[in-house]
Amino acid sequence: MNEKIIDSHCHLDMPAFDKDRQQVLENARAAGVMGFVVPGTTQKSWKKILRLSEQEKDVYPALGLHPYFCAEHSVGEVDQLRTLAASAKPIAIGEIGLDFFRPDLDEQRQLELLELQLKVARDLELPVILHTRKAHDQVLQLLKQYQPKGGISHAFNGGWQQAKHYIDLGFCLGFGGMLTYERSHRLHKLARQIPLENIVLETDAPDMPGAAHRYQRNSPEYLPEVLEALAQLRPESKSKIARQTSLNTIRIFGDALKSLVSTHD
Ligand code: ZN
Repeated sequence: MNEKIIDSHCHLDMPAFDKDRQQVLENARAAGVMGFVVPGTTQKSWKKILRLSEQEKDVYPALGLHPYFCAEHSVGEVDQLRTLAASAKPIAIGEIGLDFFRPDLDEQRQLELLELQLKVARDLELPVILHTRKAHDQVLQLLKQYQPKGGISHAFNGGWQQAKHYIDLGFCLGFGGMLTYERSHRLHKLARQIPLENIVLETDAPDMPGAAHRYQRNSPEYLPEVLEALAQLRPESKSKIARQTSLNTIRIFGDALKSLVSTHD
């Protein structure tokens, strides 16, 4: 039997899935994926994500403005985010963050948008889904300042000290397809060091494909491969890791996901 797992981060709304979204969902469910968290990236993405989550009961929406597109976001869109999030009740504010790896993205603009969105998350008492590259210390500083209700540092790529800071702030760290590459030595070490209670599984589909799908579209169907990679690295059994990472995802996102796991088995 397939282990039941949750994809805590997949962009199922993206055009890459327009032709076969239903089939992808069905294949992923057959592979054991019982929940799909779909984070927002632009203002335009929000409606599509909310519609998808209304149609598919196992799809959970997050709303936010991704740092990749900071040049096209406006402060007015953050006001729209606040209004929409208050009524549509997403499970989180995300995907938000800082990407200082890409030199083409204006750092000041990213900082401004992140701070405004952290305020929205704090005021609405929602967790956050964070995209962070080469900026973990800056993000941690802002988390201490704004104190949102926990969340996930997705595709975690920081160091052990930074991981510990996130954990102290009540965050989980997301691991995906990069774990399946033999050469990901630093990431493998982190995946062994971090307590199982602070790890969640993700694909980031259609991006970040694992070793078996290099240069192809990534998909939540492949999430079991991330579980397998983690089970190779850690002392716990695959079923224990599946269950605990699902419980972690539910702990972060709250009641909306509770029905996914019975507390009795
Ligand atoms: Zn993403």
